[in-house]
Amino acid sequence: MCEAQFPRKCNNCKKEFSDFRQFIGGTRPLGAPQCSPKIDDPFGLISYVNCECGSTVLLQCADPGMHARFKQALEAEAKRTGRDSKELLLEIRAEVRRRLTGEK
Ligand SMILES: [Zn+2]
Repeated sequence: MCEAQFPRKCNNCKKEFSDFRQFIGGTRPLGAPQCSPKIDDPFGLISYVNCECGSTVLLQCADPGMHARFKQALEAEAKRTGRDSKELLLEIRAEVRRRLTGEK
């Protein structure tokens, strides 16, 4: 789903990100991803990043079925591990970035 949002451009500096991997490499995460508690929220899951120019760009999961499944899995994991969902979201994003960039 993230990959389907490319290519795209930064609205401010017009830098083009041809794919998800390049986007991850050329941006910095900003705060924790926001997972809407509402299953039918059109914004679902949003991850904010900063472009190199300092402008904020967002990636979102706006597919209601996918958001419902993600939210369910996130809540189950939070319950199972006793950790809060914000912490889990930060960890998931860090893992996605690690896998895509090959960084440790
Ligand atoms: Zn930019």
